[in-house]
Amino acid sequence: MSSTSSNIWPGVIRRYSEHLPITDATPVITLHEGNTPLVPAPGFVEAIGGKFSLYLKCEGLNPTCSFKDRGMTLAVSKAKERGAEIVICASTGNTSASAAAYAARAKMRCIVLLPHGKIALGKLAQALMYGATTVAIEGNFDQALQIVRELGETGKVEVVNSINPVRIEGQKTAAFEICDALGDAPDFHFLPVGNAGNITAYWRGYREYQAAGKSDTLPRMCGWQAAGAAPIVDGHPIASPNTVATAIRIGNPASWQGAREAADQSEGFIDKVTDEEILHAYKLLARTEGIFVEPACAAPLAGLIKAVQRDQIPEGSLIAATMTGHGLKDPDTAIGSAGFHPHVVPAERDAVLKVLGL
Ligand SMILES: *Cc1c(COP(=O)(O)O)cnc(C)c1O
Repeated sequence: MSSTSSNIWPGVIRRYSEHLPITDATPVITLHEGNTPLVPAPGFVEAIGGKFSLYLKCEGLNPTCSFKDRGMTLAVSKAKERGAEIVICASTGNTSASAAAYAARAKMRCIVLLPHGKIALGKLAQALMYGATTVAIEGNFDQALQIVRELGETGKVEVVNSINPVRIEGQKTAAFEICDALGDAPDFHFLPVGNAGNITAYWRGYREYQAAGKSDTLPRMCGWQAAGAAPIVDGHPIASPNTVATAIRIGNPASWQGAREAADQSEGFIDKVTDEEILHAYKLLARTEGIFVEPACAAPLAGLIKAVQRDQIPEGSLIAATMTGHGLKDPDTAIGSAGFHPHVVPAERDAVLKVLGL
């Protein structure tokens, strides 16, 4: 039984093939990504004093636990179609995890360039487990991407960073799913901005769905950068970007222009939040909703808190926010910010009752 004729979710390429640059000759390399839950978050909204509906697109529930899988299924399929044997990427972590997984699925070799010492532990574990050749650069993501661009020009390797235009094509399917789930586009779309491919992809997806008559409205796109890595907000590249949200620790976004257009054309904005605000929202979400995301996802949540304080969200609005990656990707930040101070007691019932004050 082929996966197209069964009831198995077929992955984003087969589900949205009419909107994607593929042909019958394209081999579909899929881990059946997409179809992620859109989860209402009323407890978080209540905690921040909002009067609107918030839906979280939980992209951490993709096969490698981030939204990168949506673009990677297409990038690796197209690379395979062209006969490439090696894929390469620079990564703050999630792109490498995804590239490595899809390359394994496609029986291709994968090379990843990572900023040394700045990768969340879970992401590194993934790249290693999927068998990627991992090179740690004594530099940041932007420098790693520059080297990858140069290696791509040799023609020996296929670059699967979001400078590869099909990555953005695959990622726009998340906007389709949100429209399919809600019956139309939301009023606002909040998301983190790093290399800015995803905000570019969502805006393209929302416009294409509207043009195809599958949705009526367009959201205002509201992107959030971390204050120490906010080149778009500050208006110039940042030589040494820094933030606890390593997935958006990027000083010179490849899709800078696409992000500006998304914000400007949709009458949205791109703004920034501090690491302190990010960590506050990160914990608040976990405790009010039982949803554990990686720190980058908390940037738009911290942004939402700001927007409420500034009275930027009309009552009754419908807001979608992308939770781009799973919280277990970065256990160090989780344990560091939640604090780990276990009560060590003898293995006796009364000792446990006593320490609990019960
Ligand atoms: C890649 C990534 C981002 C940033 O997305 P861009 O498309 O680079 O703006 C944000 N959060 C997570 C978890 C990511 O993996």
